[in-house]
Amino acid sequence: MSQETMSRRDALKLGALGAAGAMLSASQAMAAAPTEKDVKFDEEYDVVVIGTGFSGLAAAAKAAERGYKVLILEKMGRVGGNSVINGGGMAVPMNKYQKKHGIEDSGEKFIADCLKAGLGINHVEMLQTIVKRSNDALEFALKCGAKFQDVKPAWFGGHSAPRTLVTENMSGSGIIQPMAAFVEKLPGCKILTRAKMDDFVMSNDGTSVIGVTARINYRFDKNLLNDDIENKSGEKKVYRAKKGVILASGGFAMDKVFRKMQDPRIAEDQDATNHDGATAGAMLKAFQIGAMPVHIDWIQQGPWASPDERGFGVAPLLTQQGL
Ligand SMILES: Cc1cc2nc3c(=O)[nH]c(=O)nc-3n(C[C@H](O)[C@H](O)[C@H](O)COP(=O)(O)OP(=O)(O)OC[C@H]3O[C@@H](n4cnc5c(N)ncnc54)[C@H](O)[C@@H]3O)c2cc1C
Repeated sequence: MSQETMSRRDALKLGALGAAGAMLSASQAMAAAPTEKDVKFDEEYDVVVIGTGFSGLAAAAKAAERGYKVLILEKMGRVGGNSVINGGGMAVPMNKYQKKHGIEDSGEKFIADCLKAGLGINHVEMLQTIVKRSNDALEFALKCGAKFQDVKPAWFGGHSAPRTLVTENMSGSGIIQPMAAFVEKLPGCKILTRAKMDDFVMSNDGTSVIGVTARINYRFDKNLLNDDIENKSGEKKVYRAKKGVILASGGFAMDKVFRKMQDPRIAEDQDATNHDGATAGAMLKAFQIGAMPVHIDWIQQGPWASPDERGFGVAPLLTQQGL
């Protein structure tokens, strides 16, 4: 039985052979990226962005505000990925709502909190970037039309100060929906849903990314063991990106094959809080052309997502209550 014809149930039955299947999947995903001589471009943009979560939309907005013609590809039927289903909590050290409520905070405190929660393996320069830029990110969300509860910032676990702003609807959709509407109105910016990036297109000498291959009218199928490899839906398009391609394809918690390669303790029937399309395909393509992964086997586990409970389940609530 080939990997492609294997049903999900058959694959799950394989148990111990799962890891071998995973290796096969990875090698299938690793076919060499096409170069300019292998393709004919259908359309040309300055920037192509992969993904419509917070990162993709923010990057697209910045590029469009600089006058670039931007194409944003989203493989799912709606925008937002994990960002649109998230809890709507945005931790911003030294934000204006803290000042209004007389709350003292500092960048040093924020970094110390993150290092403690992150067992010291965080990249400190990234944390410094959050300290420097998170108020800009907040202003950008407000400019797009996001609405936050105008109350004292919330004191979330792991933070040594109340610094988390929560959207009015207590969901990331409170940021993503206005942000997507804002981005769509920017001149030169186009969002395509059900449009899956399949691969990068490289320059003939292989040194730079000059575009992507993609499929439009793509239909993600959550019943496949590995949608990135098995799903053949949609029609092929090739997009040139004159200035660059921005990969903002999010995480891979729903990729039963790849997550098990990273941490064999994660059973195939373990649920996750992520959106269905959180798979590793685009990220693997980036590794193939030389991107260097860090920390990807640090997969957050919680008392939720057991095979007996969908999504968050009741376990976190019981934990909060000390039961
Ligand atoms: C249930 C839940 C609650 C959370 N709550 C919070 C919270 O309250 N506060 C907080 O700070 N963080 C929270 N997080 C984490 C936070 O939501 C994520 O870190 C953040 O949304 C990641 O944004 P992103 O843009 O990187 O990825 P995403 O938002 O996942 O966007 C990636 C997008 O790329 C698309 N994509 C992937 N591959 C391709 C491809 N090949 N072609 C085209 N498109 C592709 C995906 O479909 C997706 O739409 C939560 C996460 C979850 C799952």
